[in-house]
Amino acid sequence: MKRIVVLGGGESGIGAAVLAKVKGFDTFLSDFSTLTDQAKQMLGKYEIPFEEGGHTPEKILNADEIIKSPGIPDSVAIVKGAIALGIPVISEIEFAGRYDRAKKICITGSNGKTTTTSLIYYILQNAGLNVGLAGNIGASYALQVATKDYDIYVLELSSFQLDGMFDFKADIAIITNITPDHLDRYDHNMLNYIKAKFRITQNMSEKDCFIFCDDDQVTIGHIKEIVTRAKMFPISQNREVEQGAFTLKNKLTVRYCEEEYSIPTEELSLRGRHNIYNSMAAAITGKIMNITNEVIRRSLATFANIEHRLENVSTIKGVQYINDSKATNVNSSWYALECMDKPVIWIAGGTDKGNDYSELYELAQAKVKALICLGKDNTKLHKSFEGKIKIITDALSAKEAVQKAYELAQDGDVVLLSPCCASFDLFKNYEDRGRQFKEAVKEL
Ligand code: ADP
Repeated sequence: MKRIVVLGGGESGIGAAVLAKVKGFDTFLSDFSTLTDQAKQMLGKYEIPFEEGGHTPEKILNADEIIKSPGIPDSVAIVKGAIALGIPVISEIEFAGRYDRAKKICITGSNGKTTTTSLIYYILQNAGLNVGLAGNIGASYALQVATKDYDIYVLELSSFQLDGMFDFKADIAIITNITPDHLDRYDHNMLNYIKAKFRITQNMSEKDCFIFCDDDQVTIGHIKEIVTRAKMFPISQNREVEQGAFTLKNKLTVRYCEEEYSIPTEELSLRGRHNIYNSMAAAITGKIMNITNEVIRRSLATFANIEHRLENVSTIKGVQYINDSKATNVNSSWYALECMDKPVIWIAGGTDKGNDYSELYELAQAKVKALICLGKDNTKLHKSFEGKIKIITDALSAKEAVQKAYELAQDGDVVLLSPCCASFDLFKNYEDRGRQFKEAVKEL
């Protein structure tokens, strides 16, 4: 019997183990740290042997194939060992894709993945289709393949998941954009990261469709290097495209085959220039999926923004509070600042991933009244923005940051948490940071 070893017992790993077991493999799961009770319960239910608190090489390196969770880098000893022995190391998505006959709409990119994925899922649901949502979002894809029967999946894919994908094929692939992120996992080499993202186009045939941002120089620069037979659908806010979507003069237009239809941008429920890209990607996907213009239009007009992404928290004494805790890199905060039309009290900072803040100087000078640095070590933020923003101060908790913002803000201002950074120095994760921010605002 073929032996499958799953490394990592989070959402993705547990799902992969269940699917492997259900498909009749000799399955084993190994996690370097401790497993949650819920994870252990699932493993027990499906009678899957496991270990936690360390990896035992003898139980792992005898595998025919290893399914590695996206959080584990290739540089970890046990993974290196497996690769040296020639054991194939794949991702949960690659594995589950083998058993899934559903049509697959796959979304990757540095920013906008979750928003675009959720928006497409919403459109397909509104069209009454039997559709599942998975990948980097919600319940594990493998677990759903093992237990559900969908006709279509909308899958959010990170570059780490794509790294472990080889034969998997998307029917519709989307790259929202590519800006530097996670370079620590790519030998600080941008090309490696770009190539990882483009793996989403692997194996596509002429029946398949590839949607990409025509205004993104990095994507366009690399597109010439790849060979794909898929039909190409660019999206742009700079020019008219023949097939795809574009937005000019406040009108979003979709062109697909012989058809063309438009939606005024003021009807879109998601605000900001970045979200116009996400709406365009979703609109052309809807068209490719043969969904009526009416359903697409209504969906784009009624979609409720997801938590922690330019989420409106409340307005107190004329000051609006916005939670954009998910903005964990410079590019996403750029878009947040770009769409602010009131003076900004900006809360930023956290774990710096090698950020270059110079892209933000112009916007900061034009829009930001005060910067509140919410991190353990704020030296880089101070150095970068001194002389460009009048007031710069520090906070060591969400509560302190909100209190300081409250004191600094005047009627008509906006307080924006859009950190540019990861959250691990002071918070569990970006959700925790966003929730603490919201609680502090509610206590004002
Ligand atoms: P991801 O899943 O790729 O991290 P999200 O949809 O969760 O993306 O959005 C993350 C952050 O990026 C949010 O702060 C959001 O405001 C910003 N953002 C969303 N879409 C885009 C886009 N198309 N381009 C740039 N930034 C974006």
